Amino acid sequence: MNNIARILAALPVLALALTTTVSAEEHKSAEKPAASAKAAPAIPSSPAAPATAAAKPAATIAPVATPKTAAAAPVVRAPAEPVVAPRPRAKPQSAAPQRVALATTAVAEKAAEPAAPPHTLHWSYEGETGPRAWAKLSPEFAKCGSGERQSPIDIRDGMKLDLEPISFEYRPSNFKVIDNGHTIQANVGGWNAMRVMGRRFRLVQFHFHRPSEEAIDGRQFEMVVHLVHKDSEGRLGVVAVLVEGGARQPAIQAVLNNLPLEKGEEVPAATNLDLTQILPENKKYFTYMGSLTTPPCSEDVLWIVMQQPVQASADQLNLFSRIYPMNARPIQAAGGRTIKESN
Ligand SMILES: [Zn+2]
Repeated sequence: MNNIARILAALPVLALALTTTVSAEEHKSAEKPAASAKAAPAIPSSPAAPATAAAKPAATIAPVATPKTAAAAPVVRAPAEPVVAPRPRAKPQSAAPQRVALATTAVAEKAAEPAAPPHTLHWSYEGETGPRAWAKLSPEFAKCGSGERQSPIDIRDGMKLDLEPISFEYRPSNFKVIDNGHTIQANVGGWNAMRVMGRRFRLVQFHFHRPSEEAIDGRQFEMVVHLVHKDSEGRLGVVAVLVEGGARQPAIQAVLNNLPLEKGEEVPAATNLDLTQILPENKKYFTYMGSLTTPPCSEDVLWIVMQQPVQASADQLNLFSRIYPMNARPIQAAGGRTIKESN
């Protein structure tokens, strides 16, 4: 094929990518007049079923992107934990090209999961910017100090009930790994979902804490995996899978294999990831209402903590420790909250 033929062959792909980008922008146009004005001419020509279909995932996941439009939405809504909400205020110039680039890789919904330019506001797990200081670091972090339904908690005295089984609809998916300065996180593509309490949550990302943030009857574990889900109304549902020492964990290994060399750099993995591998065999769980365990500590997060831990090998635990030896928020007061647990 000569060059012209190649360019011609690529045209439909480019066109699709562009319309996808426009459609992804479209739903945000109400908040961002500048973008809508620019995008407007292209919309009528937006032909096609394919473009609409491609835009769908982006539309459902839209709330994740909300923090980007911080200028229009002063109240910080819960971002996918633990990506920090406060983005640099409005940077319309740089935002657009970035999205075009992402769209051309045919994962428009990924625009909602930015390769976190490491947080604008520094917070950490110890010292002057540690958990006790979080609330003072920014007005947007106020809940970290004043919240009354914070996470993590020591889970005890749950109400034993016949809780409905959670339906996990996980399938092999592409993913990207990022070291966001607070943890190693895998941003997950494709359609992975869980159904519980009449709601369907889509899996956005998962990440690790060492040791486990949550305790069960006072016991903490070597590590915990937080699988962060979001429903169509932007409400968060986080599944916590406790990790103890033992056999090698294939899904954790897949993430480690793709560790980026630089902080803040999102690296696409060459292989797909089957996240059913990270769930324990026994699906009994605890559930309670809590918060993000990282700033801004937003509340109204549905927590589902699996009762049975999974295992990871000593090598895997040590590897993670070399990067993050301690990235767990201290236990918060349960404050008489209802905790339910599967019989
Ligand atoms: Zn977490």
